[in-house]
Amino acid sequence: MTGQIVIVGAGVAGATAARTLRSSGYTGRIVLVGAEQHAPYRRPMVSKDLLAGTRELERCLLESESYWAGSDIELRVGTTVTDLCTDRGRVCLSTGESLGYDSLLLATGARARRLEHHPPLRVRTLRGVADIAALRAAIATGPLLIVGAGLVGLEVAATVRGLGGQAQVVNASAGPLDRVVPHEVSALVRDLHAEHGVRIDNDVELTGIEQIDSHGVVATATDGRTWSAASALVAIGADPDTALARTAGLEISDGILVDAHFHTSAPGVFAAGDVAARFTPQRRRHERDQHWNSAQAQGAAAAKSMLGQPDTDLEIPWGWSTQYGVNLQFAGWPHPCEDLVVRGSIADRDFIALALTEGALVGAVAVGRPRDLRTARELIAGGAVHPRADWAEAAELAELKREVQPVRQ
Ligand SMILES: Cc1cc2nc3c(=O)[nH]c(=O)nc-3n(C[C@H](O)[C@H](O)[C@H](O)COP(=O)(O)OP(=O)(O)OC[C@H]3O[C@@H](n4cnc5c(N)ncnc54)[C@H](O)[C@@H]3O)c2cc1C
Repeated sequence: MTGQIVIVGAGVAGATAARTLRSSGYTGRIVLVGAEQHAPYRRPMVSKDLLAGTRELERCLLESESYWAGSDIELRVGTTVTDLCTDRGRVCLSTGESLGYDSLLLATGARARRLEHHPPLRVRTLRGVADIAALRAAIATGPLLIVGAGLVGLEVAATVRGLGGQAQVVNASAGPLDRVVPHEVSALVRDLHAEHGVRIDNDVELTGIEQIDSHGVVATATDGRTWSAASALVAIGADPDTALARTAGLEISDGILVDAHFHTSAPGVFAAGDVAARFTPQRRRHERDQHWNSAQAQGAAAAKSMLGQPDTDLEIPWGWSTQYGVNLQFAGWPHPCEDLVVRGSIADRDFIALALTEGALVGAVAVGRPRDLRTARELIAGGAVHPRADWAEAAELAELKREVQPVRQ
C-alpha cells in the first residue's frame, strides 16, 4: 500500500488515524498537519490539570516528541492547511508548500463559539493550550463570570475554585448539562457546584457582555438582570471547523457530512472527529459527537476506511467529565429521556441512571460505577430490550447482557 495520505488536524482524531494507518500496514507517505504549535495532546486536560497548573503539557501529550520523530509519520505542527482542491487532489500549506494526496482526512475539530459581540479583552474562550495563559491571568484578577453550563464551563468553574478563585455561572437553559443528562442528574450537578460556592443562574438570555473599564465586565440579560465580574469566560459550545471543507464545496450541515464509513461527498476525502457529522445507522441520522473517545475511535475507523477495510463495529458515543473530583460518565443518548431507571443513589453520588425507550436502553449516566457504565455501553450497542422491572431490579446489570447481539453498523 503506497501513495500519499494527508491528514488535516493533529488532534486525537488525526493523530489516531495516522497511527492506525501505519499499524494497519500502510507503507506510503503520511503527512499530519496541525495548526497548533504542539504535538497532539489530550485536550480534556485543558480545562482540568493544565488550567489548574497541576500537570505539564509534556505529560499530556498523546505521544512524546521523540515518538513522532521516529515514527515515519511526518508531523508538521504550527502549520495550517490553507486551501483544498479536491479536483486536483492537492492542499496548500501556510508554509507555501503544496502537497498532493491519494486520500485526505479532514480532522479539523471545532472552534469555541463566541458571542455575537465578543469584547476582545477580559472575555475569553477555551479550546486549546494557547488559551490557557490568558484565562489563568484573568482568574488571578478576580471573580470569573462563566457563560454556559456545559462541560467546559462547569469544569472551569471547578478548576477556578480549586485554585482558590471565585466563579459564577449563567446558563441559557433550565439546568446545568441539561442538554446532555436527564433532569435528575442535572440537579446533582447544580448541588455539587452550590456546595463548592459556585452559583448557577439558569434561564438567562444574555443580550451581551460589556467591558466597563480596565477593571471588569458586566453581562446583561433580556430581563434586565446584570452580573459583574473581573472577567468572563464564554463557554457556549463549539462549532465544527468546516472552513476548508466549505471552500472545497463539500456537503456540510452541522459538520462535514460523512457516511457511516467517514466518506465525505468528495471522492478520496474523509472526515472524522468533532468536525464530522456521521450517519449513525443505529439512529438513522447524521450526528456529530463531541467526546474524546468518539474522536479517537472515529480517527481509527476512518483510517481503516481509507485503506478499504471499513470497520463495522464502531462503539456508541461515550464521554466523561470531572468536577471537584467527581467523575461523571455518560454513554449513548441519555437525553431527552422517556423513562429513567436509577440504580443506586443519586444523592449518595453512587449510581447509574438508565434512559429507556419502550424498554430499550438508549443511554446511561453514572457516578462511581465505571464497570456498570461499561456494561451499559454494551447493552446500548446490542439494542438490549427488557421489562422496566428487570432494568431496576436485576442484581447485576451484567445479567441483562444475555441474548444481546451486537448491532452491526
Ligand atoms: C476544554 C475541553 C475539555 C474537554 N473535556 C472533555 C472530557 O472531559 N471528556 C470528553 O469526552 N471530551 C472532552 N472534550 C472534548 C474532546 O476534547 C474533543 O471531542 C476532542 O478533542 C476532538 O478531537 P478532534 O481530533 O476531532 O478535534 P480537535 O481536538 O479540535 O483537533 C483538531 C485540530 O485540527 C487543527 N486544525 C483545524 N483546522 C486546521 C487546518 N486548516 N490546518 C491544520 N490544522 C487544523 C486544530 O488546530 C486542532 O489542533 C473537551 C474539549 C475541550 C475543548
